[in-house]
Amino acid sequence: MTMKTATQAIHAGDAEARPGEPMGSPLVPATSFFADPDAVGFSANDLGAAMPHFYSRWSNPTVDLLERRLAALDGGEAALAFASGMAAVTGLFLHTLGAGDHLVVSDVCYAGVAELAHDILPRYGIAVTAVDTSDLAAVAAALRPETRLVHIETPANPILRLADIAAIARLAHEAGAKLSVDSTMATPVATRPIDFGADFVVHSLTKYACAHGDALGGAVIGGGEEIAALRKVAAIHFGGVINPFAAWLILRGLETLPLRMAAHQANAAAVAEFLGNHPRVRRAWWPGSPDHPQHDLARRQMRNFSGMVAFSAADGAALARQIADRVKVFAYAVSLGKTRSLIFHIPAEDLLRSSFRLEGRAAQAYRDWTGEGTFRVSVGLEDPADLIADLDAALSG
Ligand SMILES: *Cc1c(COP(=O)(O)O)cnc(C)c1O
Repeated sequence: MTMKTATQAIHAGDAEARPGEPMGSPLVPATSFFADPDAVGFSANDLGAAMPHFYSRWSNPTVDLLERRLAALDGGEAALAFASGMAAVTGLFLHTLGAGDHLVVSDVCYAGVAELAHDILPRYGIAVTAVDTSDLAAVAAALRPETRLVHIETPANPILRLADIAAIARLAHEAGAKLSVDSTMATPVATRPIDFGADFVVHSLTKYACAHGDALGGAVIGGGEEIAALRKVAAIHFGGVINPFAAWLILRGLETLPLRMAAHQANAAAVAEFLGNHPRVRRAWWPGSPDHPQHDLARRQMRNFSGMVAFSAADGAALARQIADRVKVFAYAVSLGKTRSLIFHIPAEDLLRSSFRLEGRAAQAYRDWTGEGTFRVSVGLEDPADLIADLDAALSG
């Protein structure tokens, strides 16, 4: 039986129901498991497909349940969970890319990923081209015979620019490259990138999946063979595995993900409308709004428009100070996807220089979109009237 998302979030990967067995996700903190000398090889090179649990850097029952649930939610064959979203991206990049290979990456993406691509990968002989992945011609022009991976983020942090997954999957595959999609902001409730042709889906589970802001985690979802190969490199050898308690907290968060995303979307619609009409706000972006320049694409590839809203305003740095001093319901803080609403100002200058390394026309395109800075708003689950009253008081004067 193929279950729908709301059912998968609670049931997918569960053990068979047997009288006397505990119901729900078992938390197994053990690092070692009793071994059968005939079944278990000691080296990562002797991994059997159906190997029993052996050592928790290889696999762990709680983490295994999280991985099966994530694979089901994203419509992939398998998943590998990591200690953080950054561990997931690093593991995927270093698994798929080697010296002489080329990566095409979204020129606007999570700052940690941009810095990894620009500063670290070239040290290992990996060439990197950053392009505006909302521009298909730019993506096509960046592809080379040695391109192995195209990595996009949609919606992209922090300006909520979208990328057309199906079109970029076609371009990447024609060039012999794979496509990975950071779908942290969309979550599988909004978008299942594999359905649009992506080879890998990446999530920071720290955000919407966890929801409560009390566990770090990440994941890569993809084909069974690819994920088994990734496990050998990124889990067993790099070792950035998630701890079972964080996996257990994230399993708990996932159960309410579909319900929460519906509420995040409804609250974001109200906040985006309020911001869009506020005199202090130059522009507001939310993929669900008809004013978003890629609203048609959003409707094609998002079943839910998520809870992230961005806006720009004149004199952003001073306004950020005022907002931080005044907000009572919102918290002035980084991160996103929490039950509690968060707001944070990201000056364009800092991001362009330290993270994205954009100059000339590319830097101008970023400023054209967002001005001198972006307020990133993660709209939480509080009553929307309280959220709007809080923003109104913070923006006035
Ligand atoms: C937070 C985030 C990451 C990094 O995840 P961590 O769990 O903080 O390591 C990667 N991509 C996006 C889009 C994010 O929002």
